[in-house]
Amino acid sequence: MTKNELTNTKKINPSTLLFTFTFCISLIFSLIIIVSTSLLIKKTSKEIMSKYYESCETSLKGYNKAIELKIENYFTALNTFFDDDFLAPASNNEIQQFLISHKYKNHSDFATVFYVDKTGTEYSQSGKIYKVLERDYFNGIIKDGKDYFISSPVEAKSDKHIIFVIAKAVKDSNRNTKGMICASIELDRLKETLKDINISITDSIMIIDENGKFIANPDSSLLFKSFTPSSKEYKQYSSLYVAQKREGILQTEINNSEMMMLFFTPTKNTTWTTVLSVPLSEFQKIQRKQNLKVWIVVIVGLISLVFMLFLEFITYRHLQKKQKFTSVYDQITNLWTKEKFEIEAKHMLKNSPKSKFMMLEADIRGFKFVNENYGEEMADNMIKFYGHMMNDVCKKEHGIMCRAYADHFYIFIKIPSTHKAMVYFKKDLEIFSDQIKRYVLPFTPKFGISFYNPENNTEDVSIQGLIGQASFAKSAIKDDALTQYSVFDSKLLEKRNEEIFIESNMESALANEEFFVMYQPKISLKTNKIIGAEALVRWNNKQYGLLPPDRFIPLFERNGFVTQLDFYVYTKVFEFIQRQISQNDNIVPISVNMSRNHGTPDVFMNDFSKIFRRYKVPSQLVQVEILERSFMDNNNLKEITDRLHAEGFSVAMDDFGSGESSLNMLTSIPIDVIKFDRMFLKESTDKNGKISVKSELFIKSLIELCKNLGKETVFEGVETVSQRDFLKETGCDIVQGYYYSKPLKESEFIDFMKENI
Ligand code: C2E
Ligand code: CA
Ligand code: CA
Repeated sequence: MTKNELTNTKKINPSTLLFTFTFCISLIFSLIIIVSTSLLIKKTSKEIMSKYYESCETSLKGYNKAIELKIENYFTALNTFFDDDFLAPASNNEIQQFLISHKYKNHSDFATVFYVDKTGTEYSQSGKIYKVLERDYFNGIIKDGKDYFISSPVEAKSDKHIIFVIAKAVKDSNRNTKGMICASIELDRLKETLKDINISITDSIMIIDENGKFIANPDSSLLFKSFTPSSKEYKQYSSLYVAQKREGILQTEINNSEMMMLFFTPTKNTTWTTVLSVPLSEFQKIQRKQNLKVWIVVIVGLISLVFMLFLEFITYRHLQKKQKFTSVYDQITNLWTKEKFEIEAKHMLKNSPKSKFMMLEADIRGFKFVNENYGEEMADNMIKFYGHMMNDVCKKEHGIMCRAYADHFYIFIKIPSTHKAMVYFKKDLEIFSDQIKRYVLPFTPKFGISFYNPENNTEDVSIQGLIGQASFAKSAIKDDALTQYSVFDSKLLEKRNEEIFIESNMESALANEEFFVMYQPKISLKTNKIIGAEALVRWNNKQYGLLPPDRFIPLFERNGFVTQLDFYVYTKVFEFIQRQISQNDNIVPISVNMSRNHGTPDVFMNDFSKIFRRYKVPSQLVQVEILERSFMDNNNLKEITDRLHAEGFSVAMDDFGSGESSLNMLTSIPIDVIKFDRMFLKESTDKNGKISVKSELFIKSLIELCKNLGKETVFEGVETVSQRDFLKETGCDIVQGYYYSKPLKESEFIDFMKENI
């Protein structure tokens, strides 16, 4: 692999990285903003609530003060009614006379002013006399010896109005209490006062006396009654509870199960408690407002996040476009990259839709070998040389080109006609050959060619499509070094269509058991008996009938499906061996093919052993054939051989002599069997079935070499008796070929074993 190829593999796109980074940052920021704002709002919401509490308490104090002032005002009015010097010596009658004659001095709120002596006799302004022994103010002043007293609400003796009485002790000349001067005030008067200072519709102010009875209440049905909530939970918070507690805040329920917050405080100089009640819903309203604010912040935050992401997305797209633009040139050759090439080729096609075009894919035969054996620098230099050599010609033809990857180049040229294009191309090939011959390390170029002809191309062909066709044409070049190019034509098109069909059907075919295994016997030349067999896969395809592996294995090797197929074949083979053993029937060691595509030795061995362990089959009955031209280097080849040996399997080197094998490999890797490629015999045999003398010597010495190294030798493709005789003479151990048997169906193979074991 070249350096460029390495750097090209799965690199994380920097703009993707940038995008992810900014995405995360903005997400974190947005979250921080949302969380901190909602915390701040919660905090201010708490502050607002406590301010609301405070304002409730302030208004309560205000109400209370108003009541206190009113009462103070009543007492002042009472105090100024009489001169103490007059009262001390005055008789009850004198006092009553004074009251009657000074009625005009009554405070406007006073219903009446009256005097009560020590015996509980009331001298009223109407001139009448009542007994008030049972009144609380009488007890308060006379019995308890208080100087001032405010009574609970009572019914007036005169007109049955609800009143309360303020009383002040009257002293005789010895400073002993001789009676009291009183004023009765209708409760409605006090209510009037409260009405003036009410601040909101929902709040209401109440006054409760020491027994928990309402002196003032907006609900007049509750006046002079106490109240206990009906629900169990709030039962304890009765008006009596408030009257006794006198100061505080509590939450309770009122009649219609409405929740209320009660703020209450004692009224100075009285046994009364002033209560401010605010519906809980007021507080909840404020809270809801605050919560709404939090939601607004969160939603605005989210909207701005989405907006930010949208901006980032646009920037990302822009960056991506820019990046595409900057990745125009390939680092090794300074030619265009594949992306740039595709864009430009598309332009060319679009700008002259009536013209003909030629697409070439070029690479170097055996480039992998150069890379592995001569090193990265040499390989890179070869790519540079090859690229520049083609670019000179391409420029001359007014075409465009790029390095797509590794040693693969694409060229796109506008042409006058296919015929002329091929004439020029062949001339150019000669120029290339001359130049390559003079290069430090001569190599063979390989070309796949496809044409765009608007007259023929009825279907829309894209640049990618043309590249695909050129690439397919190149892959159709067989391994002979003489063919340097291949043109995509109708035959190849048919083949390509077949491949497309095969690819889209392979998975279902595997599931439907369309693949099956045939067995080709291996014969010992010493005994002329069967000594083993090779498992070979076939596909009973619903469209193309029975397909030989050449039609699908190369494609599966390209698309990677071959590894799945291999494991399927292994399963079928192990099943077969197990069945034969369990039925006490004949069986010989079976070799299975391992395709080039398997991953590391570790991965392959894990999967292989996992499947094998499911069957009761001795490992000596299984041989694995590894292709000489597998993608494995010598280290991996050695590792896999060692690990297969460790589990008791034998290992064969398949198609020996078909690739660039080094004889050195024979000594360094402990392979058990060398399977000579069929081309060996084919190329050595003449029309009359005779082996040439030169080949005879070569094959003989190879077999001898293998024998000296302790390897078993197998020859494939033995078709004639003279080939068999020759091999027997050279000391070859085993043969496999049509001379003995073609690959056989399982049942036929069982019969073959019976006859030849
Ligand atoms: P291979 O592994 O070299 O298998 C031997 C091929 O040579 C078989 O072709 C066999 O039918 C053919 N052959 C045997 N004797 C003669 C003969 O006397 N004359 C001629 N002309 N041919 C002979 P097949 O079955 O068509 O397989 C072709 C190739 O497909 C195999 O070459 C192998 O590389 C691949 N293949 C077959 N089955 C599998 C499989 O299960 N897994 C993998 N990975 N590859 C397989
Ligand atoms: Ca094989
Ligand atoms: Ca073979």
